[in-house]
Amino acid sequence: MERYKDLGLKLTPQRLAILDYLDGNKSHPSAEDIYRSISRRFPTMSFATVYNTLEALKRNRWILELTIDPARKRFDPNTKPHHHLICVRCKSIVDLHQDYRVDIPKEKRNGFELIGNHIEFYGVCPKCKTLKEVMKMAVFKCSKCGATKEGRCKPQKCPKCGEKRTMQKS
Ligand code: ZN
Ligand code: MN
Repeated sequence: MERYKDLGLKLTPQRLAILDYLDGNKSHPSAEDIYRSISRRFPTMSFATVYNTLEALKRNRWILELTIDPARKRFDPNTKPHHHLICVRCKSIVDLHQDYRVDIPKEKRNGFELIGNHIEFYGVCPKCKTLKEVMKMAVFKCSKCGATKEGRCKPQKCPKCGEKRTMQKS
């Protein structure tokens, strides 16, 4: 509790709940995620409370704001240098603890003094990958007329010639 003094915010039970929620959280939540979770316990809490708490934490460098998700800002209580991997489907973000030695030659730095970098990787997470495979459509072909139909399960009869039990997976 003592260490929260320098935040410049009045520490209400709601704010403490927000700090608790963020402590050690590796899901990179958005302000909306935090609001949804905390308002279960504090139904009268406003979104502004979440917002200004996050702003104060950010200002004091207790959390980092990530812009990797184009839809909404995400927050990271882990302020040590690391990189991220985002799933383009479900927008889950995971940490990447690896040192990528990328360097910009001095003549290309535009006079900047470099203090760090953040590398973002885009991909499809294992959960979404499995889901995609499950949802994958199969093509069925009529052994009589050759008509094809896409679907997840085998059609009883051919949609073209009407023949029963002739549709085979092709
Ligand atoms: Zn995903
Ligand atoms: Mn992170």
